[in-house]
Amino acid sequence: MRERERFEAAEQKRRLIDEAGGICVICRAAPAIFLAHRIPKTKRNLKCYGRVVIHHHLNLVPVCSDSDCNDACLIDNRPREKARLLAQIKAKLAIDFGLPPYLQRYLQEEVEAFDAD
Ligand SMILES: [Zn+2]
Repeated sequence: MRERERFEAAEQKRRLIDEAGGICVICRAAPAIFLAHRIPKTKRNLKCYGRVVIHHHLNLVPVCSDSDCNDACLIDNRPREKARLLAQIKAKLAIDFGLPPYLQRYLQEEVEAFDAD
C-alpha cells in the first residue's frame, strides 16, 4: 500500500468510526477500534471481487477488539446476504463512477429484488 492509500484508508477508518459514534456496531458497548470486513479480506475474495469491493465502505463495520463482534459481521457463509451486499456495492459504484442512469437503475433494481422476495 502506498503512502497516499494508507492515508486515505486511515481517513476512511476514522470517518466510519465517527459515523458509528465511536462505538462498536455489534455490542454497542465498547469503543470501535477496528473495521471488520463483512466479506473477508482473503486472497481468494480479493481475487474474486477485487480490492474496490472488498475495501468498499459498505463492506466495512466498525467493531471493538472482541473477536466475537468481529465474527458477527462476517457474511462469507451467508450467500443471500453476501449477494445482496455485492449488489449494493455495485449499485453504489455505478453512481460514483458515473455510469449511465439506465445502468444505475438496473443495478438499483437488482438490490431491490433482494428485498422483494
Ligand atoms: Zn463489540
